[in-house]
Amino acid sequence: MRVVIIGAGIVGVMTAYYLTEIGMHVTLIDRNEKAGTEASRANASLLCYGQKSPLGHPALWKHIPAILTGRDPRIKIRSPFHLPLYSWLFKLLQNCSTTRYRLNHLHLTELAETSRVLMKDILERQELSFDHLKSGRLNLYADKKSLDTDMEKVQLCGNRFGIHADMLTPEECASKLPSLKDRKTPLVGGIFTAIDEIGDCEKFIDEIFAKYLTPKQNFAFMPNTRAEQLIRQEDKIEGVMTDKDVLTADHYILCNGAGARPLLRAHNIYLPIYPIKGYHIRCEMPEGLQVPIPVMDVKTRTVAVQLGNTLKLSTGFIFDGMRTDIPKKYLVDLKNTAQENLFPGYQFGKFSVHSGFRPFTPDSLPIVKPSQKFRNLSYNLGHGMLGWTIAPATAYKCAEQICAIYDLK
Ligand SMILES: Cc1cc2nc3c(=O)[nH]c(=O)nc-3n(C[C@H](O)[C@H](O)[C@H](O)COP(=O)(O)OP(=O)(O)OC[C@H]3O[C@@H](n4cnc5c(N)ncnc54)[C@H](O)[C@@H]3O)c2cc1C
Repeated sequence: MRVVIIGAGIVGVMTAYYLTEIGMHVTLIDRNEKAGTEASRANASLLCYGQKSPLGHPALWKHIPAILTGRDPRIKIRSPFHLPLYSWLFKLLQNCSTTRYRLNHLHLTELAETSRVLMKDILERQELSFDHLKSGRLNLYADKKSLDTDMEKVQLCGNRFGIHADMLTPEECASKLPSLKDRKTPLVGGIFTAIDEIGDCEKFIDEIFAKYLTPKQNFAFMPNTRAEQLIRQEDKIEGVMTDKDVLTADHYILCNGAGARPLLRAHNIYLPIYPIKGYHIRCEMPEGLQVPIPVMDVKTRTVAVQLGNTLKLSTGFIFDGMRTDIPKKYLVDLKNTAQENLFPGYQFGKFSVHSGFRPFTPDSLPIVKPSQKFRNLSYNLGHGMLGWTIAPATAYKCAEQICAIYDLK
């Protein structure tokens, strides 16, 4: 059976991995020269098996005035006249009730836990080099209320899935990350989860390509190939019109994140996926600094991760339509915030910058299902802020669904 997958981020690559493993002939296409260069490169490198939460939370309501007036350091609306934003925000707020939040949290935790097990299997098959570390994770708090709320969030599903979290004193936080001793703004404490891990998503994709996909006869990658249109024939997709050629297959899968919207809109299909921009800056490790554990300063949502001998700092939930630029001020703010709150006294060298769109759904859950309109089209989309963590589970599920459609054992 021949399958075309559109989009070679972590989601498309993992989907190709599982489908080729069961013998399907997969053609993976991407508009870029290399796989994994958009959100999958921009991400913070956290495998969030322990600390994670849907964006829609009951406490989001009280942040709305600060968000709308640009005073929230974490969420910025830079393109307020992008109309699809408002219907999406409305749906996001519908997911902020306690019941919806709990349900969404449960589903996310299930996906993360399944992914953790699948990732373990992958890494047991063959060693992959992607700066992977079973590091645990530390979230830092400057106010008690946020600390308590987040502890509740971790415990919400934690007990059911055996995820253990420790509440740490400021001194215990500083013993895990010594540079915190010189922090000026006092901390009230932190949350440590041992189950969390880190790894470089782009390097992981390179390794999956090198060790599993490229050697296979039943796999082909087409870089620099943009899908422009899904060609329809009644209730089937007949082909994908690209900027090079028309590609045909028995089944088609959209794994192109926020890029799926225009392809589907042409067929009057509107999936609630909004692109929320984020970015990271990366430099060589400042002299004398070690970051043995990934940390997040929760108030500013600044994440710092040491990958090999580099330091990656990430932040930003920016509603900016499809604009890809990052204002210089945001980069300087990120560097200063990290210096002030996490690494006082350390000097950072030259940075590289990467940004990407988190393909966000209002319930923070991915859309993994066959299309209702076209019987040979599937979606594996909308992984939001957790795609690196949950891609194995959604790819596996997508492969299972395709086997079920064609009655394959
Ligand atoms: C700043 C930031 C920090 C993050 N931190 C984390 C984290 O710590 N942990 C975590 O789990 N997740 C994190 N995420 C989220 C995670 O990175 C995303 O959920 C994940 O990368 C989405 O993967 P994807 O494959 O769907 O999208 P992408 O990686 O964006 O891949 C989509 C691919 O589709 C291609 N494409 C799009 N349209 C077309 C077209 N028409 N034709 C051909 N190709 C097309 C693109 O070129 C791209 O390569 C973060 C995201 C950001 C931006």
